[in-house]
Amino acid sequence: MIGTVYKSTGSWYTVKSTDGTFYECRIKGKFRLQGIKSTNPIAVGDVVEFDLETKNNTETGVIKRIEERKNYIVRKSVNLSKQTHIIASNIDQVFLLVTINNPPTFATFIDRFLVTAEAYSIKTILLFNKIDDYDEDTLYEAKYLASIYKDIGYTCIEVSAITGHNVNKVKDLMLDKTSMFAGHSGVGKSTLVNAIEPSLDLRTKAISNQHMQGQHTTTFAEMFDLSFDAKIIDTPGIKGFGVVDMEKEEIGDYFPEFFALKQDCKFNNCLHVKEPKCAVKDALENDEISYSRYKSYLQILEGEDEHYRTDNWDE
Ligand code: GDP
Ligand code: ZN
Repeated sequence: MIGTVYKSTGSWYTVKSTDGTFYECRIKGKFRLQGIKSTNPIAVGDVVEFDLETKNNTETGVIKRIEERKNYIVRKSVNLSKQTHIIASNIDQVFLLVTINNPPTFATFIDRFLVTAEAYSIKTILLFNKIDDYDEDTLYEAKYLASIYKDIGYTCIEVSAITGHNVNKVKDLMLDKTSMFAGHSGVGKSTLVNAIEPSLDLRTKAISNQHMQGQHTTTFAEMFDLSFDAKIIDTPGIKGFGVVDMEKEEIGDYFPEFFALKQDCKFNNCLHVKEPKCAVKDALENDEISYSRYKSYLQILEGEDEHYRTDNWDE
């Protein structure tokens, strides 16, 4: 049988088969890891093949194969072993919630997030939340920030999780897809998810998860089916995507507007910093590239964000 992993608790995986039935599955013997070395061989979102076996009148599954992942996000443990844990896989899109204040979301945070999402091959949609709460100046700021990201191809939507403004637009984008929600603590992720699907109270889940923080719980992800053809992967305690290990030459490729110009740089390994005849720097001088984006790029390039590495993960 073929199914999708919805939840993992220790050595058991909750798998929903293609006919809609949930089975508790485990792995038998040595399981060949796919591609990367990780502490968990199977993650939420994985598509697996399994056989059923009946013991003591209960039917459980034995996973024998995992389909190649379209993408996946990982967390690296902060201790010395730096082991990799796969949090979730096969994610269609992530909604990044942004607020101008309460709490402020800075452009550098957005840019770092987008670079990581691009490196993971996950599409990002920016939601400017709490739009009901903004005075004229703040609204202007939100529109200005959104224009930077619209110009380079990201979908940006003004929403209010409280009044429901544009929540239907978000729901439309979620149809037939597996989505995640990200953003700083307090931007309104749980409020928005509750507005999308009132029966799914992620807030309570997130709180109950906090009680377990003293214990050795690894951050766990869980997939939920919504009432309208859509899936959510909830990752309590995770607000960002961490930092992916990247070569310096790669970073610019994850800034889509830089990548589009790269072929016009004199050097094909151009870092867009000191090199002569650099198309990116020319575009910057002509105001065709946003200065705040370029500033974030330099910060990431120079590794100034090093100390954000763990901050990005845990609230
Ligand atoms: P999370 O930490 O991202 O899950 O944020 P929450 O959903 O817990 O929201 C944090 C606070 O912001 C709560 O007090 C919410 O009521 C409030 N909030 C969330 N969305 C909105 C919104 O669209 N407008 C306003 N005015 N407040 C909001
Ligand atoms: Zn260049």
